[in-house]
Amino acid sequence: MIDLFGGHPETNPLDDTDDVQLLDTTLRDGEQAPGVSLTPDEKARIARSADRAGIAVIEAGSACTGKGERETIRGVTSLDLSARVTSFCRGLERDIDLALECNVDGINLVVPASDQHVTEKVGTTREANRRSTVDLVEYATDHGLWVEVIGEDGSRADLDYLEALMGAALDAGADRVCYADTVGHATPDRTLACVRRLAALGPTSTHTHDDLGLAVTNALVSVAAGADLVHGTVNGIGERAGNVALEEVAIALSHGYDVETMDLTMTHNLAQLVANKTGIPLPPNKAVVGENAFTHESGIHTDGTLKDESMYEPYPPETVGRQRRLALGKHAGHAGVAAALAEHGVDVTDEQLDEIVGRVKRVGDRGKRVTDADLLTIAEEVRGTERDRHIEVLDLTAVSGVHPPTASVRLSVGDDTRESAATGSGPVDAAMNATVEALSHEANPALESYHVDAITGGTDALVTVEVEMSSNDETVTVTASDSDITAASVSAMVDATDRLIDGSAVVADD
Ligand SMILES: [Zn+2]
Repeated sequence: MIDLFGGHPETNPLDDTDDVQLLDTTLRDGEQAPGVSLTPDEKARIARSADRAGIAVIEAGSACTGKGERETIRGVTSLDLSARVTSFCRGLERDIDLALECNVDGINLVVPASDQHVTEKVGTTREANRRSTVDLVEYATDHGLWVEVIGEDGSRADLDYLEALMGAALDAGADRVCYADTVGHATPDRTLACVRRLAALGPTSTHTHDDLGLAVTNALVSVAAGADLVHGTVNGIGERAGNVALEEVAIALSHGYDVETMDLTMTHNLAQLVANKTGIPLPPNKAVVGENAFTHESGIHTDGTLKDESMYEPYPPETVGRQRRLALGKHAGHAGVAAALAEHGVDVTDEQLDEIVGRVKRVGDRGKRVTDADLLTIAEEVRGTERDRHIEVLDLTAVSGVHPPTASVRLSVGDDTRESAATGSGPVDAAMNATVEALSHEANPALESYHVDAITGGTDALVTVEVEMSSNDETVTVTASDSDITAASVSAMVDATDRLIDGSAVVADD
């Protein structure tokens, strides 16, 4: 049986915990995720955001990687952040010298801890490894660095040796040691045993990976065992299955144990920034930051949520800088549809609502998500009101195969005709740019997301483009289908803009 907290589940195991901080290694361990490479500017932006969110330590990279990486780290240290900025260093004096060249505040010194790493990887012995660790710590502290010693593969190390190695590092002047579950191998009870032994020696950090899906659990267990600095990455990006996701640790500590580690309201912005810059999209069902984390579709859930917002939510979305969304689909109920219509300022009678709910469910039954535009179109039909379009596409030409790809559009906007041409990375991008340009006098809506689905196979497939656009406080999602992806994209964008200009998306009764 797993007995994590001495058999007292009724007590808060973190009651005595007053100060837990986070170390963000998105720029080092996160960047080691397959296919990720961040530019110096991108690293600086992420570091600035993490700093604003109150994250205590930012590991900016590995100074030993090369000249470019060192310039990037220097870019971060020159930002004058409140956070402590560190570099990863292998157990080599040369690595410490290179970190010093980057003006970092401290280093994360990684030394082997498991026999596999001590003998097979580094080719040394336990005793020689312990002695060299002591020398390196003394060298680094002599140069004024804050030093955290990470025992690599600590979760698979002999626990007595790990304790001796980390104890020697602390005796030599290291500021703290770190329990590292480098390959994400440990169970919570193993984590508890390791961290308890290390935390008895001195300040201890924890570094967990998600190979068993236990990264957050192990991070929390580490804190319960006495660790007070949790390593992790934004969105949990990292090698293999990734590191622990910082935002998940932060909300779990706050929600479950009243331990605050960062400004939670910034988690959503930080997540989107990292997703954009790394090109690793957020899975819709991801905790805290996923698209669906605060979206209710099922009729029963929507109805309950409208009666009491906390009915089907552990904490309000605003806690993490987000908003609740009611989505419509085959589970849609009267309450949810009425709420969605009210959001767009559309009044309907009870009979009209019955009819609209029925139609929404029929669209949902075909496996389609019901977008705002779908709902409003249905409502328009049921109410017998036809919307007067303000903007319409008259003509569209896009040319690819030339450099750069170009497109021109002609739109009717009210009584005027607007024409514009633009270039882009491809014909769709060029056409979207031309459309934005043509509409720039009219409105400046922001494109929040753009998504394409091919409905059938083959090169003549019908594609559906879904765009989400916002202006001021209003957001509208519109889809358009066409076998020509450029035409579908422009049509969706124009339709969304048209509805945003309308103010409510449906023409007022007049
Ligand atoms: Zn790692």
